Amino acid sequence: MQVKEFKNLSFTDFSRPDKRAQMEAALAKVRGQLGREYDIIIGGRRIRSENKFKSCNPANTAEVIGVMQEGGSELVEEAVRAAEKAFQSWSRTSAQERTEIVFKMADIMTERRYELASWMVLEVGKSWVEADADVAEAVDFLNYYSHQMLDLAKPQPLVDYPPEENELVYIPLGVGAVISPWNFPLAILTGMTFAGIVAGNTVICKPAHDSAVIASKLMEIAQAAGLPDGVFNLLTGRGPEVGEPLVVHPRVRFISFTGSKEVGLRINELAAKPRPDQIWIKRVVAEMGGKDSIVVDEEADLDAAVEGVVRSSYGYQGQKCSACSRAIVADSIYDLFLEKLTRKTKEIIKEGDPQDPDVNFGPVVNSQAFKKISEYIEIGKQEGRLLAGGDKGDPKGYFIRPTIFADIDPKARLAQEEIFGPVLSVIRARDYDHALEIANNTVFGLTGAVYSKNPEKLQRAKREFHVGNLYLNRGCTGALVGIHPFGGFNMSGTDSKAGGPDYLLLFTQAKSIARLKDA
Ligand code: NAD
Repeated sequence: MQVKEFKNLSFTDFSRPDKRAQMEAALAKVRGQLGREYDIIIGGRRIRSENKFKSCNPANTAEVIGVMQEGGSELVEEAVRAAEKAFQSWSRTSAQERTEIVFKMADIMTERRYELASWMVLEVGKSWVEADADVAEAVDFLNYYSHQMLDLAKPQPLVDYPPEENELVYIPLGVGAVISPWNFPLAILTGMTFAGIVAGNTVICKPAHDSAVIASKLMEIAQAAGLPDGVFNLLTGRGPEVGEPLVVHPRVRFISFTGSKEVGLRINELAAKPRPDQIWIKRVVAEMGGKDSIVVDEEADLDAAVEGVVRSSYGYQGQKCSACSRAIVADSIYDLFLEKLTRKTKEIIKEGDPQDPDVNFGPVVNSQAFKKISEYIEIGKQEGRLLAGGDKGDPKGYFIRPTIFADIDPKARLAQEEIFGPVLSVIRARDYDHALEIANNTVFGLTGAVYSKNPEKLQRAKREFHVGNLYLNRGCTGALVGIHPFGGFNMSGTDSKAGGPDYLLLFTQAKSIARLKDA
């Protein structure tokens, strides 16, 4: 097999009429497929359960995108058995053969990129640009991890010790549970699942309810590429009914989780307790929430900073773990910043149904999110000064307007708790020392940015701003595979650095083999 060099898939330029037409055609095709029923797939077997749930369009809640199966704990047992069986052969399949299948998946996904993006526009309310970037990231994960696996399968450098012959080989762990969020429904699910699989593990995937149709599309692609049955099992259902039984199952060797801090901590705790017949310590990779800040120094290019804050705060309606939710602004430029910020938000943000190519700000994902964000807006009205938004949009969907609160105290709830939606708090800092102190004052440590033209201040940020992904003079979202390995410190997770050179090691264990040559 001729392996091409890794290259990130470029984003689609929707200002080109041909690309726009392709996306419009894909949306029309997908619209013709709405409301279909999708199966649980275990060991290649298609299963329909008695209980179903509907995945609906958040921009038009009456529209059903797909009907899904509500799995339960009995299927967890079957899934673990199927994955264990498949592990016998998949773990012995060469890295070369495994990566061939995963590279093929990347090609199929690239061919289907507009269709997959359309599903995301409709199922989770992503704008065209955000949905396209999600597909591109998923393709990148498939290619990048395949390259990493081929490197890991090469002879590893060890110190010579004649007459012994020494080897270090990376072997897979076993059966893994992948529990994923809805906000990067294809990219994160694909990355978590196929990092494990390409390394020789087999996986049971429990996607989030809100993005279960997209998860079924990933399964279609895996099957089309010839992935053997049982290597990737798709078990839809609720966290407590399917996720927890998977986490505590004694034959599950590792858990790869991305989601909220609350659920991640619970999983970590449950997984730590050995169960009867369990013969290993479970490995937990948990990537969790953030409360991400952009520091705007008095020596910043103010217009660039304002634009960076707007785009980082409101891209995908603020529903990114990396989204900016706190702008920490130097006292001397504070009032001017606020004035420019409200103006720029109005200028850049186009609210509406994301099926419209000109819309870059759609609904939040579901009624629970809508309720929770609305509650935080009420808290914000007590804790700060409302500058923009604060109200709801079109009642057809879960629309919340882009919201800005000024004069938020660094210790206020709005400044400390993750609000997974379009609510930005602006905090006044006395000086740069104070700004960095505020930037580090939450339990999280995921992304952060500093705008300043002063190289010494940037140097200080490199040392003192304690986040897994730090950006200087640019926004704090949009990490690219292989370029910005992604993952956070403290309560933001285990800093697994998805899309980085060390990620695959988390799904392997290293075995040292020494052989006395002449014996
Ligand atoms: P969530 O924690 O509600 O759910 C994540 C997954 O866990 C879902 O599949 C859910 O069904 C499952 N789950 C829920 N309860 C469970 C339980 N008791 N046991 C096992 N599984 C359970 O998160 P979400 O709303 O889907 O996603 C948003 C969150 O994800 C935000 O906090 C965001 O910051 C975080 N996130 C983090 C990253 C990162 O890389 N750090 C990336 C994306 C999203």
